[in-house]
Amino acid sequence: MPSSCRVCGREKPSPGDVHCSRACAATGLDDVDGGLERAIVALLMARARGATICPSEACRVVFGDVDHDHMERTRRAARRLVAAGTVEITQRGVVVDPSRARGPLRLRRVEQLVEPARVGRGRRADD
Ligand SMILES: [Zn+2]
Repeated sequence: MPSSCRVCGREKPSPGDVHCSRACAATGLDDVDGGLERAIVALLMARARGATICPSEACRVVFGDVDHDHMERTRRAARRLVAAGTVEITQRGVVVDPSRARGPLRLRRVEQLVEPARVGRGRRADD
């Protein structure tokens, strides 16, 4: 996972930076941004495994509307959750790079991978 901007979740030009841009550095995060992340996770936890939500659903929970600026703030929250390994962004069922995706997005929770049991470690059945 390349290092991501703390505010918008997009890939940063340099791993040493905290933000991708001056705009993000000036924007910062507040309780509303945390609320958006929690709304996204709560909506996904209420769905079946593998189901997706539209970011506008979380936007509506927090803001009561899907105003352009509110949607952009919601998409930033979604990208931060991708950076945290909590959520993936899909388009037509395919996971996409959050830094480059354009157009309508869906959000899906990341499945927990269970480590498989070790199989045939250094021994064969006929040893
Ligand atoms: Zn940024």
